Amino acid sequence: MPFPIFLLSLHRMNLSQDNLKAARELLCGAPLRVVVVSHTNPDGDAIGSSLALNEVLTAYGHQVTCIVPNKYPYYLDWISGIQNLLIFKCDRDKAVEAVREAEVIICADMSLLSRLDELSEVIASNTSAKRVLIDHHLEPDTSFDVMFSHPESSSTAFLVYCIINELFGKEAVTAVVAEQLYVGMMTDTGNFSFSFLTPELFRAVADLSATGINIPLIYNNVYNSFTEGRARLFGYVINRKMKTLQKGTVAYMSLTEEEMRRFWFQQGDSEGFVNYPLTIKKMKMSAIFIEHHDFIRVSLRSRGNVDVNEFARRYFNGGGHKNAAGGKSFVTMDETIAHYIASVKEFVEEGGLSKK
Ligand code: 5GP
Ligand code: MN
Repeated sequence: MPFPIFLLSLHRMNLSQDNLKAARELLCGAPLRVVVVSHTNPDGDAIGSSLALNEVLTAYGHQVTCIVPNKYPYYLDWISGIQNLLIFKCDRDKAVEAVREAEVIICADMSLLSRLDELSEVIASNTSAKRVLIDHHLEPDTSFDVMFSHPESSSTAFLVYCIINELFGKEAVTAVVAEQLYVGMMTDTGNFSFSFLTPELFRAVADLSATGINIPLIYNNVYNSFTEGRARLFGYVINRKMKTLQKGTVAYMSLTEEEMRRFWFQQGDSEGFVNYPLTIKKMKMSAIFIEHHDFIRVSLRSRGNVDVNEFARRYFNGGGHKNAAGGKSFVTMDETIAHYIASVKEFVEEGGLSKK
């Protein structure tokens, strides 16, 4: 009997052979100028995926520039290679030049160019570069030459791992790359507790672990490295600001700029707050509204089949995944909250909370 096919693809996502062929033709030939970009307010997955691509493509011989629209959270600043990341808001000229000269632009962990804010216009102005998407969000833009769009992947880092293996072989995943990818996989799965935890993912993690990375240290660097202000802000938000609707099955919280200042807020400090109401057994959906200079950022989380991607698209001009999505609001905090309450009511009336 021939070898079962699945044994040959133990570590693989179901990546399309056409896409792999196109990516190979693009990235496994002569050295090119490559730009890797990821989304605004980059998280562990955005940063880990971008840095791993940077590392592997640079080792291959490409000239790579990695750009994010704004600063990453401080608890990611220990990751190898992060000093090579260009922050568009701080290094605009360098970033514009790199994008202008790029022959390939890779968009990682983002489905829509609009998620790059001002950087999206710069990317759009380079009309000759080949564009590659590597992403796991729902409903991506279709303006890419090569599209690895896999909403069934728990993180973009897992996709990047699979693609690197296919294009450059297992040896390309050095301990540095493994650490970067592990950060992405760990953060986007809530330390391996959310959806899409496949055997293939854990086999990939086993491979990363075999490179000698220190998994408890990575966990501590990311999750146990906050400031005292963040701990106190968290207590304040849960105790004083968490409100519930729909008989305690829907929660929301809000943070104004004044409140954030009071607790010495640093970017990234509110990361994870929105998940906490879902530790309550009957909670189905949670939201947090965070005031920025000229808009309010909306983060949404849900359990099971409650679809916050749909909710975010419909009511907050956003998107994301079924259980984790976000958007923006351009009215006051009070108006945003009133809009949320009315939207939840409509959503519930249409059966949005009772989907099995
Ligand atoms: P977070 O709440 O952690 O900022 O975002 C949760 C998920 O929703 C992430 O996958 C993020 O990329 C996505 N997301 C957040 N804000 C927006 C937005 O304004 N538009 C879209 N399309 N997706 C968003
Ligand atoms: Mn992601």
